[in-house]
Amino acid sequence: MIYWAGLMFISFCWKMLVTVCPRVATQTSTLGDKIRKHLTLPALFNGEHTAPFSVFGFDYALMPSRGEGLVLMGFFIINFVCLFVDYNLDNNNVYWPDRKDIQLMRYMADRTGIMAFVQTPFLILFGGRNNFLIWLTGWSFQSFMLYHRWIARVMYVNAVLHSVGYTAYGLVFGKETFDSYWGDNYWRWGAVATVIGGLIMLQAAYMFRHRWYEIFLIIHIAFVAVYIVGLWYHCVTLGWMEYVYASIAVWAFDRLVRLIRIFAVGFNVVADVRVIGDIMQLEVRPGFFKPAAKPGQYYYIYVAKLKFWENHPFSLVEVRDGKYVFVAKPMDGMTNKLWNYLESQPQRSAEMRVGLEGPYGEKFLVEPFDTVLLIAGGIGISAMVNYAKTLAAKKREGQHIILYWIMRSDNSLEALKRPMAELKESGLIELHIHVTSSNEVEKIQLEPQTSDSEKNSFDSTPALLSVNYVKPDIEEVIRQVIADANGSVAVAVCGSESLNDASRRATAANVDQAKKRVEYYEEAFAWA
Ligand SMILES: Cc1cc2nc3c(=O)[nH]c(=O)nc-3n(C[C@H](O)[C@H](O)[C@H](O)COP(=O)(O)OP(=O)(O)OC[C@H]3O[C@@H](n4cnc5c(N)ncnc54)[C@H](O)[C@@H]3O)c2cc1C
Repeated sequence: MIYWAGLMFISFCWKMLVTVCPRVATQTSTLGDKIRKHLTLPALFNGEHTAPFSVFGFDYALMPSRGEGLVLMGFFIINFVCLFVDYNLDNNNVYWPDRKDIQLMRYMADRTGIMAFVQTPFLILFGGRNNFLIWLTGWSFQSFMLYHRWIARVMYVNAVLHSVGYTAYGLVFGKETFDSYWGDNYWRWGAVATVIGGLIMLQAAYMFRHRWYEIFLIIHIAFVAVYIVGLWYHCVTLGWMEYVYASIAVWAFDRLVRLIRIFAVGFNVVADVRVIGDIMQLEVRPGFFKPAAKPGQYYYIYVAKLKFWENHPFSLVEVRDGKYVFVAKPMDGMTNKLWNYLESQPQRSAEMRVGLEGPYGEKFLVEPFDTVLLIAGGIGISAMVNYAKTLAAKKREGQHIILYWIMRSDNSLEALKRPMAELKESGLIELHIHVTSSNEVEKIQLEPQTSDSEKNSFDSTPALLSVNYVKPDIEEVIRQVIADANGSVAVAVCGSESLNDASRRATAANVDQAKKRVEYYEEAFAWA
């Protein structure tokens, strides 16, 4: 606990410092560059961070960045050391004289039990949406989810050692004594918790949670509830209940804040939803509380008509005429159902009742940098538009803002034509739009939409957007931008697994090539 609290305190101080004095975030040193280039920024092993680690075509896990890997290593070392040190075994022991083996078995079993137990509140807090540590530290939800998974694994190893230790300890005194333990509630519920913990480990494996996220989530919540009940009855007569209460409290806090957010911002509100090109646009009229639109924000949207028990995160593109605008790419689950529903509607549009829960998301601190390179892949543009608009509005003399948007098909352009055109017309940012489905190099002009069937709120834009039909070499783009920059550089990316990982690789490789600090920020539309 002290380890996590210490790391968070350092991050909190850094967050406060750069909030008060943002320019500090753009400073660096040769040593700092070396550390970030080799020790913190790159992906842990083979350059894959957003993309899963695969062997023989099977995806196994999401890999941490090296910085996250170091944090985890410290955590493993502390756990490992705590398992082994300082057992006071004594032949004059009052309970088990002259039986150091039994003493060790019992002390190890007790210690691992406590070590497993005390991590439960952190585990639940780190996995929650309303984790107040995100607000304090500025660490991303993705990082907390990664730590959530690793704390769970370490905790489970401790729980298994605890169970094995007590089983061995029971058997030393003979089968009859051991069998008598099963008559005790604390023993039976401990066994339930250990078994259900193992099942949670299995059902939360990457290949399940990524492929069947909603099923994973329902089973996960149900199993964790049984696990907590198991802990409760395991300990109600033994002690340590404060950790069970704390676990339930952080869970209840998360659920309560979710309810407050949805009732204040978007309980059963009206949304105009329509198909535009190959994506869907949702314009939602929020409830009585209308949070200001900030870059990095996303909301959970509930479409009760289609799947009332699900909610999915979508980045806020902009607020226009009091409506919150989102764009959604159809995938295989709820978004696919929404797409099919709209396809069946006249003019491929409908007015629907939705729930809106938010806002969530921490803003990247890109504003103080001299050059800001924003890179969006496909629908990842939804997270980047707000940064581009905010940066353009606050642009400083000499600041260079560049936005690359790379997509497969220019059908995706339709829904975002207006904000993109506004950015282009402002002349404040350098805009590069690439469509990669064709190899032809040409420039096209996108005229404003006139068709009634696809009429949308951006329809009156006199936009002329240049599109390049060549896939850019993003690693080369990043290298060049950093080499050409006059001062500090921030690279912010939101795209496909390969785009994110290539951008991370290129930024890490060139972190020492700028005159000042180069910083990297990443948003991935998947944390499962
Ligand atoms: C912070 C954030 C912002 C996002 N912003 C946008 C956006 O602006 N536009 C957009 O089109 N997409 C966005 N996404 C992705 C979007 O949330 C998923 O595409 C959507 O949830 C898929 O729903 P589905 O049931 O059709 O998915 P499926 O086809 O079942 O799954 C597709 C992928 O989405 C993941 N996923 C499914 N449900 C959830 C969930 N409830 N929470 C998290 N991940 C889930 C799955 O693990 C899988 O990787 C964002 C994701 C995140 C994490």
